[in-house]
Amino acid sequence: MDCREFESYIPAFIDKKLDFGTMEEFRRHYETCEDCREELSIQFLVSVGIQHLDNDDDDFNLEQELKKRLVSNEKQLERHRIFKESQRYIVTLGCILLGLLLIWHLG
Ligand SMILES: [Zn+2]
Repeated sequence: MDCREFESYIPAFIDKKLDFGTMEEFRRHYETCEDCREELSIQFLVSVGIQHLDNDDDDFNLEQELKKRLVSNEKQLERHRIFKESQRYIVTLGCILLGLLLIWHLG
């Protein structure tokens, strides 16, 4: 992902609409690119900050909110990875069982 792509994905990130693959690339670019980190902070501040202007929560901290969102995405990614892993594992196990069953029947 390059800077231009990153920028184009910012609104989707704010709306929590990024799919897992994109989110992983998005995060990777975020961690390596200073400019985009800044850009994301600004856009996040503007769009999420405006939503919170109407509310009376003085405790609201955008900086923390952004971090929280990135971390929660990380947890989601982790869960997704584990899910994918176990899927692969189950498929492999199924193939082995099927193979054994065939050998047992044919033998
Ligand atoms: Zn960048």
